[in-house]
Amino acid sequence: MAEIKPRETVIKRCGCAGCGKQVQVKLNKNGCAYYYCPWADETGDPCNHQQRWGKAASAKMIAAYEAGGDDPAPRPAPEPEPAEESTNALFG
Ligand SMILES: [Zn+2]
Repeated sequence: MAEIKPRETVIKRCGCAGCGKQVQVKLNKNGCAYYYCPWADETGDPCNHQQRWGKAASAKMIAAYEAGGDDPAPRPAPEPEPAEESTNALFG
């Protein structure tokens, strides 16, 4: 297995949390996984979404990469839907 070079080796591909397009996850010099979205939307506005993972999640990604890689990226948790206030509650 090739050596993982910080900022060069793509250890995983996943969907951008901002725009959903595919981005490349690499490691920074501290060994933490990150990506920086290079895409723009149809109007040309850049997405610029960035994500960085901590050591624990990064270690799992590295292990999956070294094991041959097809493990899906841990997606960031989606924003929780705001709880629907019940309009049937008693009021007045
Ligand atoms: Zn994006």
